[in-house]
Amino acid sequence: MDLTTLERLPLWIGGRAVAAHTTRYAEVTNPATGEVLRHVPLSDAADVDAAAAAASDALPAWRAAPALRRARILMRFRDLMEAHKTDLARLVSQEHGKTVSDAEGSITRGIEVVEFATGIPHLLKGDFSDNVGTGVDSFSLRQPVGVCAGITPFNFPAMVPMWMFPVALACGNAFILKPSERDPTMSLRMAELLTEAGLPDGVFNVVHGDKEAVDAILAHPSIKAVSFVGSTPIARYIYETGSRNGKRVQALGGAKNHAVVMPDADLAFAAEALIGAAYGSAGERCMAVSVVVAVGDAGDALRDKLAERARRIAVGPGDRKESDMGPVITCAARDRIVGLIDRGVDEGAALVVDGRKPSVAGHEDGFFVGPTLFDQVTREMAIYREEIFGPVLSIVRTESLDAAIELINANPYANGAALFTRSGFAARKFQQDVEVGMIGVNVPIPVPMAFYSFGGWRNSLFGDLHVHGMDGVRFYTRGKAVTARWPDDGSAAPGFHMPTMG
Ligand code: NAD
Repeated sequence: MDLTTLERLPLWIGGRAVAAHTTRYAEVTNPATGEVLRHVPLSDAADVDAAAAAASDALPAWRAAPALRRARILMRFRDLMEAHKTDLARLVSQEHGKTVSDAEGSITRGIEVVEFATGIPHLLKGDFSDNVGTGVDSFSLRQPVGVCAGITPFNFPAMVPMWMFPVALACGNAFILKPSERDPTMSLRMAELLTEAGLPDGVFNVVHGDKEAVDAILAHPSIKAVSFVGSTPIARYIYETGSRNGKRVQALGGAKNHAVVMPDADLAFAAEALIGAAYGSAGERCMAVSVVVAVGDAGDALRDKLAERARRIAVGPGDRKESDMGPVITCAARDRIVGLIDRGVDEGAALVVDGRKPSVAGHEDGFFVGPTLFDQVTREMAIYREEIFGPVLSIVRTESLDAAIELINANPYANGAALFTRSGFAARKFQQDVEVGMIGVNVPIPVPMAFYSFGGWRNSLFGDLHVHGMDGVRFYTRGKAVTARWPDDGSAAPGFHMPTMG
């Protein structure tokens, strides 16, 4: 079935597309044109209940399947994602607005998590100690948590769900995905491809919607673990509510990523790297650089290079080959970003490149904001304090690396931070002293590979474990330690003291 031709999207429950129970629907728009593409159901508790029932039914057989069998299904899914990558990227671009090549890159990063998860027979191996007491052996197991749910943001409709479900499924869990209601179709395509890859019905399900669906997930007794990625206020709410309801929760929040540029850095290299990191995907990446901290006398030259390069960025629809940067997700997002640029001007920052009124011929109804660059930004200003989540880059100046590190560590967000320098001493100090989850050295967007884990500190992550990599395996499994003895003489005396071995 070509789901993209449907006017009303279905849910995916029990291995097939089903009409939602809810009567509430929302519009899914093409941000480059403002045109309504299709409608998405805003699931109610009955829809979530149906998905949880299908997942619970499928769970016993799936968790009992050998890990290698589960891995082989993921191998086929990986090949299908690869084979359909261009079409999938077009779908992401159509609903999100990012360029097709950027969307393809994000799908590749998601596929890498599938590749990691196909190693699950090795990743689930436990420890074994023989003869911990006379004739007694001990070993450890990691077992699936049960039915898990993922609640994901609009900015990576393929990659962020793929941070979660490949690892969850490989570990033997059943999964319910609640993608963003702004770009929901990709999740249905992935559900179709999982089924085509041989995933048993009910192991992977999709419900759509907003707070109503999320609250039903957080309250549902069959759902044992929730992974969330989105903005900080919602992440905090998910963590607190899910934990109160006895669920295991990891909730990744917003970001304000700083890139520090030292006076000894290769400024041309740094500027090129920062342009992509600040304006790629219209700044709608949780690892986008939104603050450049220019140390010492790096500031003026860096500002001029950034400004010259930012003015040459081609803003246009994501499916136009020449576009470097597409629109932002909604009309409301555009108005919010433009409002924050206005505040930056009012609060005294120097507006070097003004993106408030970009002209994109033939796309007058699209939600475009052009690249915007501020200099002389201070930590009191709204453009510094708030997560703008748009193509706005702020330059803050400091006297020293110590002052730059202090600035980063005082920020409530702590997702990523980067340093541009030629000094190994400065780089080592930065990676040791910065209190942030992901660090780049001459790498502006330090997104860890799938076999490392992704996550921030402070308000950028609520919970104990990051996503994918070994943290993902730990999140989606529970540890169990077995102590076993096999006496052959049948003689046993009751022991009333605390058992000790030896
Ligand atoms: P969002 O918080 O508005 O939405 C995320 C999810 O929560 C969606 O599925 C949405 O339907 C749901 N939701 C929205 N409002 C809700 C409510 N009141 N109660 C319950 N659920 C609700 O985020 P977004 O706008 O889709 O995505 C952008 C945000 O995500 C940014 O803050 C960005 O930094 C963050 N993000 C973080 C990471 C990370 O790894 N830390 C990655 C990607 C995006």
